[in-house]
Order: sequence, then C-alpha cells, then structure tokens
Amino acid sequence: MEITELIDTHCHLTFQDLAQDIDGVIERSRQAGTTAWITVGTDPEHNNKSIELTERFENMHAAIAIHPHDAKTVTADIMRELRELAKHPRVIAIGETGLDYHYNLSLHEDQRRVFAEHLRIASECNLPVIIHCRKAFEETMQILDEYSSSVEKVVFHCFSGSAEQAKIVLDKGYYISFTGVVTFKNAEKTRAAAKVVPLDRLMLETDCPYMSPEPMRKQKVNEPALLIHIARLLAELKEMSLTEFAQAVTDTSRTFFGLLRH
Ligand SMILES: [Zn+2]
Ligand SMILES: [Zn+2]
Repeated sequence: MEITELIDTHCHLTFQDLAQDIDGVIERSRQAGTTAWITVGTDPEHNNKSIELTERFENMHAAIAIHPHDAKTVTADIMRELRELAKHPRVIAIGETGLDYHYNLSLHEDQRRVFAEHLRIASECNLPVIIHCRKAFEETMQILDEYSSSVEKVVFHCFSGSAEQAKIVLDKGYYISFTGVVTFKNAEKTRAAAKVVPLDRLMLETDCPYMSPEPMRKQKVNEPALLIHIARLLAELKEMSLTEFAQAVTDTSRTFFGLLRH
C-alpha cells in the first residue's frame, strides 16, 4: 500500500457514535494513513469536549463555533465563552459557521447575526474560518465581503456548489474542502467543481459521523479511516498518484491551519 499522511480537516469526533469508541477510531485512522485531525465543535458542550480531545491525542486539533442550525440559541454569554475558548492553543479555527437555508433550523436573521459575530472573533483571534453554507451562497459571500479586510483565511467545507461557484470562492482567495459526497455516483456537479480547484487550495474532510464515502457508503457511522477513499477518488480526478496528491493536500492543510510539521 502507498504511504499517505492525510489530515481529516473536519470531523466530529466528540459525537456519541465516534466518542464511544474513540481509541479504536483513532487507531483505525492511523492505520489507514490519516494521522491528524481537526475535530469540530458545534455547541458549548462539544466545543469543550473537542478541546479535551486535543489534550488526549497527538496531532488532534479543535475548531469551535455554534452551528448555524443553533443560531437561535445563541446568547451573549455563549459568545463570551466562545471568545475565551478560542484562546486555547489547540484551537486552530473558528467554525463551522455560516448560513444554512436548506434546513432552516434557525431564522435567517439569527443565522446572519451569529455568523458575523463568529467572523469578529476569528478576526480578533487571528484564526481561520470554516464555512458551512447550504443554499445561501450569495448571502454568505456578501457577509464575508464585509469582513474581508480582517478575515482572510476562509475554507468552504463540504463543498456542494458548482464549478462556477468554486471559481468565485477561489477568486476571493478562499479554500475549498471536499467530503465523501464527491465519491457519490450522482455527484457529477461536485466532481466538476473539484476539477477547477488547484491543489494549493484544496483540502479533504470526512465530516464524520455523517456521509461515508463510496465504496463504504453503507457503513452507517463514517470515520476518519475512510478519508483515504476520498483522497483516492480525487487523486484519480487530478490524474496523480495517491502519494503525490496526499502530500500536496496535506501541505495545503498545514499551511492553511498553521499546523507545524511534526
Ligand atoms: Zn457543515
Ligand atoms: Zn460538520
């Protein structure tokens, strides 16, 4: 097997399905060539748990935020706590934050306000931002534009847009990361988008426990060990060897998140 050293740049390892077997999850991941992780908190409980996890495992990093779904629950106290937690040395990004007009679990107005507050924290703490955007592309770009002078490092996670939208994101200097969705049979549009993203702007993520990639789509609980399938498909798409591809996207991820080579 080819040697890879991949980074799962977006996973939810504190969610119950993964947390209950975390040692096994990490072991299987390492064996499959994914040797570093960014675990993403989505509410106060999981933000704290994510930070705890970074203290337990080497190469484990945390991103913290309140998910756009939960924008309606956000109080001044919650944002104050987030601002404090963001100072932890293993917190390397703010996110996932943004707008979700697909599920609409919070009012658009609340989502916009909370998104902007996250961008202010990222700017104060000088941290990159992980964007969650569903059916809200134009508004997301608009809000990012308002903060473009202070927030420069931005990645659109679980990218599901078109090649045209990918180009707009790239023109702003932002990054794009792909999940297992890119391996799905009906995901021609996502593969077309992946084609236009250069390797120095492209990152990989499982977004586990959700969305296992093909050919493991039937595995109910996705995990970082399956990141290799996403890497393999994208390497093929880019007509590169897996090793070469893995090296390039790992370098991109390290640069973007400011991770030191170990
Ligand atoms: Zn998301
Ligand atoms: Zn996520």
